[in-house]
Amino acid sequence: MASIEIPQTLLPRDGRFGSGPSRVRDEQLDALNTAGRALIGTSHRAAPVKQLVADLQQHLTELYDLPDGYEVVLGLGGASVFWDTAAAGLIDQRSQHVVIGEFSAKFARAASAPWLQAPDLREAAFGEATENLPTPGIDLYAWPHNETSTGVQLPVRRVDAMGALSVVDGTSAAGGAFVDPAQFDVYYFSPQKNLGSEGGLWIALMSPAAIERAARIADGDRFIPAALSLQGAITNSRKHQTINTPAIATLFLLDQQVQWLLANGGLAWADARTKQSSQLVYDWAEADERLTPFVSDPTVRSQVVTTIDLDERIHAADVTAALRENGIVDVNGYRKLGRNQLRIGTFVAVEPAEVQRLIESITYVLDRM
Ligand SMILES: *Cc1c(COP(=O)(O)O)cnc(C)c1O
Repeated sequence: MASIEIPQTLLPRDGRFGSGPSRVRDEQLDALNTAGRALIGTSHRAAPVKQLVADLQQHLTELYDLPDGYEVVLGLGGASVFWDTAAAGLIDQRSQHVVIGEFSAKFARAASAPWLQAPDLREAAFGEATENLPTPGIDLYAWPHNETSTGVQLPVRRVDAMGALSVVDGTSAAGGAFVDPAQFDVYYFSPQKNLGSEGGLWIALMSPAAIERAARIADGDRFIPAALSLQGAITNSRKHQTINTPAIATLFLLDQQVQWLLANGGLAWADARTKQSSQLVYDWAEADERLTPFVSDPTVRSQVVTTIDLDERIHAADVTAALRENGIVDVNGYRKLGRNQLRIGTFVAVEPAEVQRLIESITYVLDRM
């Protein structure tokens, strides 16, 4: 196919529209190259890096307006490692999982550990939503705030079941969609999605009940690998450290992003901005006959990861290839979903005007296919 050159006047200023890793703002990288220089390459057990971690914990506490007793816990390995950490040290006997896509399915697999009872699954077809169901014998209810592989967003509302924990995967929603901390016991995430940092870290906002559960399991006779110890992560985090060596750049870029969110009006501002950006995409997809929002129920369409099916006569791979030639990257659908689809991150670092330019650019390409 002959290459398509999108006019400069239509192109976004920055072509990064991925759903994670995602756009890191220039201001963050500039700060890393100035203030960050004194920290990179220094000990994470010395005061300056511990201060960075303490600041980050404080800023996240402010961003989420965490009630007294909630703690900001950090560990290495991203949300995927948090799943294994939770299987080892947070699930007592049996968990229940909403499974509506690749990421929520992975937590359910991690919870299928031999020392636990087989997890209870609440499944829906990909692209659709479902919810947890209070059930006897379940001590941990898990669901994703935003299922990044499909673009389905669920409410964060505590499951009403005495003594059980409500544990929410906030990986792609954190810092971009509003949540009330009274509605979760654990809200965990990685920083390379809406929070526009780098990968390799998990952060868990934990309620007193979740902290108590971790301590109780750690005191029991279950064998817990040291690197997966939730209790170890909690005690290290109280000292503004991690069990082993973190990437300081990730911590630094993340703290820059959280400070930027706070300066602009916090979660409420971020929530309004991602709603505006995603609505531009959905309105466009509803109006253009070649496009259809993948998530048919508008009330569960994600405000941070938009998924748009293409008419079968147009191949998504041709569209993404043409976009890539013009510097617009990572708008392909989630690989394992295998659909003829575009997936556009409408994270808070992306201005709505940039999303508008992306829409015009894609339309330009579609018109020439
Ligand atoms: C990306 C993602 C993960 C995995 O994050 P890693 O940092 O790669 O471990 C988990 N859950 C959701 C919802 C995600 O979007």
